[in-house]
Amino acid sequence: MKRNLWNWKDLKWYVMNKNDLQISASGSERPYARTVCKTCMHHCNLAPGQSGICGARKNENGTIVCVNYGKITALALDLVLALIRRAAQTCHVEFTTLIVPGENDDPAQMEELAKWAGPDIPLHVTRFFPRYHMTEKDATDVQQVYRLANLAGKYVKHVFVGNC
Ligand code: SF4
Repeated sequence: MKRNLWNWKDLKWYVMNKNDLQISASGSERPYARTVCKTCMHHCNLAPGQSGICGARKNENGTIVCVNYGKITALALDLVLALIRRAAQTCHVEFTTLIVPGENDDPAQMEELAKWAGPDIPLHVTRFFPRYHMTEKDATDVQQVYRLANLAGKYVKHVFVGNC
């Protein structure tokens, strides 16, 4: 059954299915807090508790939150790389990689990334500082950032060092 419901959060009327309604404590029906994530082109329409196809964003009580902050996210990275590749076909794209000690400061990883990025996408190699949810790591050694940037320069025309 279709219902028209006014949503005060984004000030719009919605035509909703019965399954998209929830019953409040007072017994009245209100829209289920489905929320569209607009972070990327997929525009995932997420029910409460549901994650997007990237696995990195989730609807928590009607709010899209990032659930991978400070974590290593190979699944999301694949999606991000695919998006970068697609975006670079039609607009100017620059690429920033934050070098975290013990996570992605291996020269082999940088070489792989730089080869993948190719010569034309400018690459920013930036130094990490321990902040917020990731305070157990030391700040990245400045010389290591420069070493990795030099290595990337073998494959990428424009490499910039940041936070040093
Ligand atoms: S794939 Fe992830 S970032 Fe993109 S819209 Fe869906 S939930 Fe948001």
